[in-house]
Amino acid sequence: MLPTSRLLHTALRDRAKTVGFIGLGAMGREMASNLLSRTFEASSDAATTIVVHDTFDDATTRFLSAHASLYPGRSIVPASSPAGVASLAGTIVTMVPSSPQVEEVYRSETGILAGLKDLGDPSNPANSTLCIDCTTLDPAVSASVARDVKAAGGGKDGAEGAWDMIDAPVSGGVVGARAATLSFMVGSDSHQSFARAKPTLDMMGSRAIHCGKNSNGLVAKIANNLLLGISMLGVSEAMLLGTAHGLSPQVLAHIINTSTGRCWASEVNNPAPGALKGTAHSPPAERGYEGGFAARLQSKDLGLAMEAAKQLGVPVPVGNLAATIYQALASSPDFKDKDFSCAMLALQRALGRDEFK
Ligand code: NAD
Repeated sequence: MLPTSRLLHTALRDRAKTVGFIGLGAMGREMASNLLSRTFEASSDAATTIVVHDTFDDATTRFLSAHASLYPGRSIVPASSPAGVASLAGTIVTMVPSSPQVEEVYRSETGILAGLKDLGDPSNPANSTLCIDCTTLDPAVSASVARDVKAAGGGKDGAEGAWDMIDAPVSGGVVGARAATLSFMVGSDSHQSFARAKPTLDMMGSRAIHCGKNSNGLVAKIANNLLLGISMLGVSEAMLLGTAHGLSPQVLAHIINTSTGRCWASEVNNPAPGALKGTAHSPPAERGYEGGFAARLQSKDLGLAMEAAKQLGVPVPVGNLAATIYQALASSPDFKDKDFSCAMLALQRALGRDEFK
């Protein structure tokens, strides 16, 4: 059992110098690790504290044991709930799977909103809080949660309150999270909140782009992943067609990557094993499609894109087809946790071939 926020409260002194991180999964643990090391490098102040929480206690314990010995004497503490994080931290980063988990983290009885309300007067400068949600979720859910956070902090009719929440989904995957080279697409009604978030985002990535109002960051992310899902299927079909006719995957990838078909799915994350031999890239296809961006997450993002398209009647016929294909991958025990480039493997099996020529 992790310590309660009440116990931690007595040990910590400065909320403004405390950064919280909720969601220590594949992406979050790497992002939190960079945030922690760079925060401590930037400040030797003993009050500078990192607070972490994950619903899965083991994830929190593993994070603490991996970092405590690296930073002896520095303050890295667990919280038993998102409310506990909110009671301690003036800046909170959240990185959970999708809409239901964001609702839970912010709106549940032990959520961030409950923790903020327990603080008392939002206009007390000590209670000022910025929540930065990096999850990829439904833009409408994100906008609604952000409205609640702003309203609870005294913001109304467009005027800023003391509490804010912005959306900052990421591109760059686990590799980018580890290398702190993520791109953040930020939706924030307030320019001030974007400016306040920027130093925190810069510790975890190489780019943060203000896309406009709240939820615009998510719309940008979902549009990008719609294209990514479609282009991966296109590259898979092209590679399968060529190799089925006897072309070497390496030769075909070289042709595509110096021709008009070139894209990230062909050049960096090519789905055909052996295609990128001799280049600087080593995609998940070289490791049995392990690691990378899970097919179930790509399926989730295409579902979000289809929902966003439906809301405004935007025609997305190719996206619809791609969503159906990834749904099938996401519901298959063989494919759901593999990199989404495993679409090629599924097509190859449909062709009745187990190996590339
Ligand atoms: P993940 O499933 O590995 O990690 C999610 C973490 O959140 C887990 O540790 C889980 O225990 C924790 N969690 C779930 N519900 C919680 C709750 N209520 N309270 C606290 N913690 C909770 O997922 P991930 O791969 O880290 O992805 C996180 C987000 O980033 C997703 O929205 C995903 O679409 C997006 N994303 C992922 C990648 C990638 O390559 N994995 C790339 C870009 C964006």
